[in-house]
Amino acid sequence: MNDYDVIVVGGGPAGSTTAEHAALNGVSVLILERKKVIGEPVACGEFMPDTVEMKATFPKVPDLEGLFEVPDTLVSRRMNLFRMIAPSGRYWDVPFAGYTTDRDRFDKFLSEKARKAGAEVRTSVRVTGVEGNEVITDQGRLSAKVVIGADGPLSTVARSLGFPRNKDMYPAVTGQAEGDFDPIMEMHFGSVAPGAYAWVLPKGNGANVGVGYAPKLAGRRLIEYYDNFLKNRGLKVNTRTVGKMVPSNGPIARTASENALLVGDAAGHVMAVNGGGIPIAMICGRIAGRAAASYVRDGTPLKEYEREWRQQVGKPLQTAVNTKRLATLFFGTSRRTEWAMGVVGARRMGKMIRLRPVFP
Ligand SMILES: Cc1cc2nc3c(=O)[nH]c(=O)nc-3n(C[C@H](O)[C@H](O)[C@H](O)COP(=O)(O)OP(=O)(O)OC[C@H]3O[C@@H](n4cnc5c(N)ncnc54)[C@H](O)[C@@H]3O)c2cc1C
Repeated sequence: MNDYDVIVVGGGPAGSTTAEHAALNGVSVLILERKKVIGEPVACGEFMPDTVEMKATFPKVPDLEGLFEVPDTLVSRRMNLFRMIAPSGRYWDVPFAGYTTDRDRFDKFLSEKARKAGAEVRTSVRVTGVEGNEVITDQGRLSAKVVIGADGPLSTVARSLGFPRNKDMYPAVTGQAEGDFDPIMEMHFGSVAPGAYAWVLPKGNGANVGVGYAPKLAGRRLIEYYDNFLKNRGLKVNTRTVGKMVPSNGPIARTASENALLVGDAAGHVMAVNGGGIPIAMICGRIAGRAAASYVRDGTPLKEYEREWRQQVGKPLQTAVNTKRLATLFFGTSRRTEWAMGVVGARRMGKMIRLRPVFP
C-alpha cells in the first residue's frame, strides 16, 4: 500500500500545476518542497506573455485562457514592447504583449490552487533520492504509485532515476531596481560581455533586472558583469542578488518511465531562445497531472505524457533550440553580435520570440 497515489517533488510552477491537475482528476497528491516558503527567494525575470502571444507561440495547446488566468493583483505591469539593444546602443523595437508579476506571489497562487484542488503541500522537506516507488527525504521515506520530478534544472529525481540530464545550462542572476521606468522591456545583447545578455523589465514599482551568460565565452564571474551592468545603466538595486541555472538546450530525450515523470526545468521545458520557462512548465504540468491520474485510475502508460507534451509544444521548443544554436555562432564578439542583429532585424526578432523559424 502506497502513502499517496502521486508524489510531486518541487513546488514551483511545474510542480504546483501538475499537482493541481492530478488532484482535480481524483487521485491523492503530495508536493514536497525544500524551501521554507514557496516562491522565495525570487530567481526570475518575472515576465509572462499574454495569452494572445501564447496562442501564437503554442498554437496546438488547448484552453490556454483557463490555464493562465491570474487575478489582476498578480499583474505588476502590462507592456507591449521589447527593445532589443545591440552592443553599440542601436536598437530594434519588437511588439510583444505581456506583463511582469511578483514571482513569489505568483508561485504561492499556483501552490494555493493545487491545495484547493486537494493536494497536500509540505515545505522544508528536501528529497535526497528516489528508489523505485519510494521517495527518500531528509525526514524519512514515503511511497507513491507515481513520482514526479518537478525539482528544477538540477533535478535530484532525474539523477536518481537515471533520466538524461540537462546539458548546456547557464547561470543567471537577478534583483529588483528602484525608480520609475518607461513601459519598455529592455534586452541588452553582447554589451555586458560576449555571449551575455541583460534585461530591465519594468514593474509597477521599479524594475526586475538581471544578467545571464555563457561562462565559456566570457572571462569573468557573472556577478562582476551584473555589477557593471547596473553601474553603466545607472540602476540602483536594493535587493540581494539571487541566481539560478537556466537549461538552454531544450527538452531532454526522455521524460517518462514506468512510474516516474519529469516536468518543467527538470525536463528542459524551457524556451531556449530566451530562457523563459514558466508558461511551458505550466502547459506540461497540466499534461503531467492528467497523465499521472490516468495511470493511477486505469493504468494508462505514463509514456502517454511524453507523447502528448511533444505533440502540443515539441515543435516550437525544437525551433527555439535550432535558432539558439544559430545565434550562438554570432554571439562570440560584439562586432558579430552587432552585425547579426542588423541582419535579423525587428520582424525576424518577433518570429524568434514566438518560437517560429527565423529564416524560411
Ligand atoms: C534569473 C532567471 C530569470 C528568469 N526569468 C524568467 C522569466 O522572466 N519568465 C519565464 O517564463 N521564465 C524565466 N526563467 C525561467 C523560470 O524561472 C523557470 O523556467 C521556472 O521556474 C521553471 O519552473 P519549475 O517549476 O520547473 O522549476 P522551479 O521554479 O525551479 O521550481 C523547482 C522547485 O523544486 C524545489 N526543489 C529542488 N530540488 C528539490 C529537492 N531535492 N527536494 C525538494 N524540493 C526541491 C525548488 O526549491 C523549487 O521550488 C528565469 C530563470 C532565471 C534563473
